[in-house]
Amino acid sequence: MLSPSGWPEVPCARCGTRVAGLAWGARCPACEAERAGRASRLARRISLPATLLVALYVILRVPPLPLARVYGMIAVLVTFIVVRKVVRRVAMDMLPE
Ligand SMILES: [Zn+2]
Repeated sequence: MLSPSGWPEVPCARCGTRVAGLAWGARCPACEAERAGRASRLARRISLPATLLVALYVILRVPPLPLARVYGMIAVLVTFIVVRKVVRRVAMDMLPE
């Protein structure tokens, strides 16, 4: 069956809704958004404890010099951002349907 745009309508790999312009084996926008939401939730649940651990390490182990504190704060911030990004990306590929 052809959609009005001329592209064949392909069923979503998860829910089976036919969407024009979808690649074979791809998920529809609604399923993709739902999956992104789950990945974000998981990323938040993992990145917050990881950030707390790094913050604890910085508080307990880094000498109380102003420059060391600044680098410690940067390390905490970078940990949060990087862990969240990595977990979200991995979860988008690895989460079960
Ligand atoms: Zn779908």
